[in-house]
Amino acid sequence: MILLKDCRVVARPHLRLAPGEPGTGTDLRGVDILIRGKRIVKIGKNLGFPHPPPAPTVDDDGTRRTVDASRCVVLPGLVNTHHHFVQTLTRAAPGAQDAKLFHWLTYLYEIWKGIDEESVYWSSRLALAELALTGATCSTDHHYLYPRDRAIDIPALQFAAAAELGLRFAPTRGSMSMSRKDGGLPPDSVVQDEDEILAATESAIDRFHDGEPDSMRRVAVGPCSPFTVSESLMRASAELGRRKGVRLHTHLAETSDEDEFCVGKFCRRPLELMEDTGFIGKDVWYAHGIFFNDEELDTLARTGTGVAHCPSSNMRLGSGICRVRDMLDRGIPVGVGVDGSASNDSSDLLGEIRQALLLQRVKYGSSALSAREALRMGSEFGSRLLGFDEAGRVEEGALADLALFDVDQLGYAGASADPVAGLVFCGFDHRAEHVIVNGRFVVDGRKLVGMDEEEIRSKADAESRKLFSKAGIPVY
Ligand SMILES: [Zn+2]
Repeated sequence: MILLKDCRVVARPHLRLAPGEPGTGTDLRGVDILIRGKRIVKIGKNLGFPHPPPAPTVDDDGTRRTVDASRCVVLPGLVNTHHHFVQTLTRAAPGAQDAKLFHWLTYLYEIWKGIDEESVYWSSRLALAELALTGATCSTDHHYLYPRDRAIDIPALQFAAAAELGLRFAPTRGSMSMSRKDGGLPPDSVVQDEDEILAATESAIDRFHDGEPDSMRRVAVGPCSPFTVSESLMRASAELGRRKGVRLHTHLAETSDEDEFCVGKFCRRPLELMEDTGFIGKDVWYAHGIFFNDEELDTLARTGTGVAHCPSSNMRLGSGICRVRDMLDRGIPVGVGVDGSASNDSSDLLGEIRQALLLQRVKYGSSALSAREALRMGSEFGSRLLGFDEAGRVEEGALADLALFDVDQLGYAGASADPVAGLVFCGFDHRAEHVIVNGRFVVDGRKLVGMDEEEIRSKADAESRKLFSKAGIPVY
């Protein structure tokens, strides 16, 4: 059991806010949180461990730990809804620094095609480490690049990395089937044929997916985008996901170039293509979703389809501004995604929530998105997109996925009138003090539990240097 004593503030952004109200009324001050096994069992003042101790269970081995949380803001665990872990090895790549999406991809495919088992494993560890250290308890990944000339069991490597770090992990089995010779964007060496993709996706689901509410492993079906997979694969992927009872994910409406591509190749706008292929519904979430018109937003709302908002990537690539305000007003679930690290170039999830708030205000003005709305997107809505309906809230009975930030730090000094909002508004220090997933510490005292941060850094950096060198790009 874990007892979090005297929490400075417990944020509950899932509680509905009155319009124009900052939301401090939804906070709990000076309470304790008791965790037993995988769940929050009690929140209240002056709690202690139960006497006599309850009989041990599979989830509760009888250990007891008390944590002084009097310096901490307690958030529901943050959830990352879009990423490409392998891109952590190609941050700030020289030829992709100032390019827009299609040119950026064309340049980077030539580097990414050199991946191997080591690069997949260490990039996964690196991305997950950054996520955990910035408050993430759960993440997806969208790996879609499978070199033809070597068999790499990417899901197995990624699930191993996630299990070692202790994060809840719900990756997609991504895919690309349409290379340049078919009018798509990627080179032939990194696409697979459709039967191979569907068989490998089904195998990943059978081997790794656990649909229980407190599962640590989920698999979604993730054809990459309308410009890298065929219409038939998009349709077959949706059918496979429904047959297996798993979620569906793809990139959609990211750029105006994509609109033009879809109209030119499929004679339809991207969302029309999704409707025609069945790749839409409450079990689907799209990455980006910038270029939806009003009618299309109504369609998303009517079908319950979600969106992973990736503000840093959208700014970095000059793609545009997602209409998050309009989506939230329609009841569309919008989560936050850091996106791949070749277009962010970090996995700082609390930082990404801050970016979401700021970017909406660029478009819609200063009241466009409040700090607690941004935190709700980054926790409860993200959990919902990945299918974890029992996480993302700090309440009795919920899964014990929590992020604690010590706000008695230089970067938060002066924010004592609203330390919850301070986490979003102050951009200096995003390291979590403690992160708890399924009732277990994964970050403790600002450090990864049982992990050597320096080893992750050095191994991942060595893999990055190898990848750049294989592509003939000099490194410092
Ligand atoms: Zn992406």
